[in-house]
Amino acid sequence: MALSGSALPLREPVQVMRIDVITLFPAIFTGYLDQSLLAKARKRGLVQIVLHDLRAWSPDKKHFKVDDRPYGGGPGMVIRVEPVVECVEAVQRMADVPGRLLVMSPTGRPLDQQLVRQLAASPRLILLCGRYEGFDQRVYDLLHPEPISIGPYVLNGGEVAAMVIIDSVIRWIPGVLGNEESCRSDSFSQDPHFVKAAQYTRPPEYRGLKVPEVLLSGDHEQIRKWREEDSRRRAELRRQWLARHDTACGNQTEEGRAPPHPPES
Ligand code: SAM
Repeated sequence: MALSGSALPLREPVQVMRIDVITLFPAIFTGYLDQSLLAKARKRGLVQIVLHDLRAWSPDKKHFKVDDRPYGGGPGMVIRVEPVVECVEAVQRMADVPGRLLVMSPTGRPLDQQLVRQLAASPRLILLCGRYEGFDQRVYDLLHPEPISIGPYVLNGGEVAAMVIIDSVIRWIPGVLGNEESCRSDSFSQDPHFVKAAQYTRPPEYRGLKVPEVLLSGDHEQIRKWREEDSRRRAELRRQWLARHDTACGNQTEEGRAPPHPPES
């Protein structure tokens, strides 16, 4: 991973997917980027992730502050417009494609698998992470970023949301997963209501619970039919469960507990 201030060379050609992350806390990403699939994808040159510390664009060259009190009063601090606009413009110039600029926002477009696939088709993404009370409105007015939300709740900052985007997007980059079929057969991938069938591995029986006979049969046609049916059954149970509980996100029961998996009728 490269970590930049304002002094990196400009206009690198984009040959692999490039994701730039603008954050006040680049260190949050280090452990995450160095593990598992993402570490391998970066090592194999399938994706390039470049972190940019917003403080490098602070007009305050002594304390590198980028926030200030809100006009009109109120709690918390607001991220100033100048460092953000100057940072984004400089980062856009660092490669030969300006990229799709996304700002992490609790009230933005909800991230779903369809949007993830669209984002994965882009050669370059720039992810702008907020903190404190968020950005001065003029950041939106001048840069027109696309606001993206990972759910209707408020995080302390956009870094976790940016990691969610990176994590879901890289699954669609050819070569990242061992088997190209994996992401295409994931829940939500074929259509927004698709739910993957139940999966089992060894042992064939545990505490009286047996793996469905058909999965041990070696009959590929019967296995395919069983999976299709199980997938439909789960999608329907999920639909009924969401309708019954009718919560904003559909992931909590009235008692505040997570639903059983799959939700029971
Ligand atoms: N005061 C803001 C409001 O009420 O909308 C919330 C600011 S939040 C504490 C700080 C930053 O976290 C936001 O600017 C955004 O970048 C990020 N953030 C918080 N919740 C998020 C979510 N659900 N999805 C994406 N980003 C989120």
